[in-house]
Amino acid sequence: MVQPNTDFMMPNVNFFGPNVIKEIGQRAKLLGMKKPLIVTDSFLRNLENGPVKQTEASLAAAGVDYAFYDNVEPNPKVRNVNEGKQTYLDANCDSIISVGGGSSHDCAKGIGIILTNGDDITKLAGIDTLENPLPPLLAVNTTAGTASEITRHAVITNEETKLKFVVISWRNVPLVSFNDPMLMLDVPKGLTAATGMDALTHSVESYVSEHRNDITDAQAIQAIKLISKYLPQAVADGHNIEARTKMAEASLLAGMAFNNADLGYVHAMAHQLGGQYDAPHGECCAALMPTVEKWNMIASPQRFADIARFMGENIDGLNVWEAGQKAIDALQRMSDLVGIRTVKQLGAKPEDFELLAKNALLDGNAGPNPRKGNAADIVELFKEAYNK
Ligand code: NAD
Repeated sequence: MVQPNTDFMMPNVNFFGPNVIKEIGQRAKLLGMKKPLIVTDSFLRNLENGPVKQTEASLAAAGVDYAFYDNVEPNPKVRNVNEGKQTYLDANCDSIISVGGGSSHDCAKGIGIILTNGDDITKLAGIDTLENPLPPLLAVNTTAGTASEITRHAVITNEETKLKFVVISWRNVPLVSFNDPMLMLDVPKGLTAATGMDALTHSVESYVSEHRNDITDAQAIQAIKLISKYLPQAVADGHNIEARTKMAEASLLAGMAFNNADLGYVHAMAHQLGGQYDAPHGECCAALMPTVEKWNMIASPQRFADIARFMGENIDGLNVWEAGQKAIDALQRMSDLVGIRTVKQLGAKPEDFELLAKNALLDGNAGPNPRKGNAADIVELFKEAYNK
């Protein structure tokens, strides 16, 4: 039974399309930013004519001063959030600009969270735990993607417990975000594949989520169609501007969908692989998705038959179960086509599966999964995906 879900979260402003990055200086000025902290990693900071250099040029042209925290790690850690806060205070910043993929945006959100909501971010995991607004936050997105530049989620890894946790609050949504596909042309093949599969997981999990509604369905369906067509092209030729633009659009649509419909067991389980083994998030999702969605099919077979059709499969003359199986096969084929590694290749260890399963059920994303399981079911799903 689909729950009614009447509130709908949208980003305040998203600039979309080639070269919109040039607007950022003026936007920062309009928002009264005097000295934003740019949150990024050192690779992106030093990339010649890359997203950070272009952001700097636009800020300088608008006369906006800035400082840097450039030590964000993939799967950003609590230490990154704490260091970033200290840098913000030392440099007398008044606002934040994240430049990068999900790791930069989530780290920036984390810094904002502990600037105004208490020092220990691990205590703020969960839904609607933030009482105070964050400092003004702009997000320049460079992968397609997590859609963190428009979402209310901040995903942080506790390096001591190796647990990835999520702070979900509408206060986390950046004021303005930028999706400029020209900043994505040089994303390497492996990252293009992983992030594209992350966006596909967002759309599939939203489409079968118990929290879905007609608006999120529309977004998820279009995202599935775009990713099915354009992800292979973006992996084959990163400089294909049409494919990059359509993938950026698909990532944004999928983000709007899951920001409201929420996710499911694929993300809840992927967070355990990411936290425990520091594996790339999109690959964790992609490596688990066919196994988990096959298990989910019993709860919503018609939805999976629909997904097969959106992915371009011919389901004429098939019954709903055969058609649903076509969706599972198509998800696996897409993963194989773009070169996603298996759960085993991502470094998972079967002896950890009981702990990972227990923690997956506690993850903020597990709730709206269409089929309900216990820890033993989740262990079986980890094993099945591991043995692929
Ligand atoms: P990422 O941000 O971790 O970036 C991976 C690497 O790609 C980095 O080393 C970065 O330097 C490089 N990179 C980024 N953009 C580039 C570009 N344009 N050209 C060349 N290199 C580039 O990767 P991601 O997949 O975007 O983010 C993953 C993180 O986001 C995970 O921690 C995941 O849990 C989180 N996530 C968050 C949300 C959310 O809503 N907050 C949703 C999904 C995932």
